[in-house]
Amino acid sequence: MNLILLGPPGAGKGTQAKRLEQSQGVAQVSTGDMLRAEVAAGTQIGNRAKAIMESGELVPDDLIVSMLSVRVRAADCARGFILDGFPRTVPQAEALDSMLASMGITLDAVIELRVNDAALVDRIAGRFTCAKCGTGYHDSFHPTKLDGVCDVCQSHDFVRRADDRRETVAARLQAYHSQTAPILPHYRALSRLHSVNGMADIDTVTADIQAVLARLQTRQSITAN
Ligand code: AMP
Repeated sequence: MNLILLGPPGAGKGTQAKRLEQSQGVAQVSTGDMLRAEVAAGTQIGNRAKAIMESGELVPDDLIVSMLSVRVRAADCARGFILDGFPRTVPQAEALDSMLASMGITLDAVIELRVNDAALVDRIAGRFTCAKCGTGYHDSFHPTKLDGVCDVCQSHDFVRRADDRRETVAARLQAYHSQTAPILPHYRALSRLHSVNGMADIDTVTADIQAVLARLQTRQSITAN
């Protein structure tokens, strides 16, 4: 299965992509995670992207497309992938179409997580992650059980993303509406777009996505027979 998860920052793409990675046995490909790793390692790509990411804007298409085209050819993507945070512009969506066509790969579905902007700022601004095991938390919605101690690995070390500050979230939402939402009609025209309610609780969103995929698999096996 090759999927795209689409939605504004804070819609839950990362959380759902991790769950799909487990249930579908495919690789999660997050361009945001890849860029943060480049920034942390101080590479040329990371140095180019750092300030742009901190301002909440999108990094240039050429940089992202070349990074992604290497990533989807990696061995762990052979069984399929979930793109989380890519494509984010119409040129990226078009580049992905030609990339997949040249690799002989079909895109099975684009799942849009629909959410209200008003809820997103609170969702994003309170996020933090255990620096050791990566477990995600939220100041109000999902705090650690013991103050300052990770529930999973008992580490005391937590990180907050530099671009999760309230001021930057507004710029990221603006980038979503002006540059990313215009790709929805592209996938609707290709009959690939499926929307689920991203405001529901995490397990309900997962169940709704699984239902979309199950319908798709049934349809694909009917077509194949
Ligand atoms: P994310 O973790 O997906 O929210 O991405 C964090 C930041 O990385 C974004 O706000 C952008 O600055 C940058 N970024 C991630 N993916 C892309 C992409 N596909 N195109 C352009 N910029 C991206």
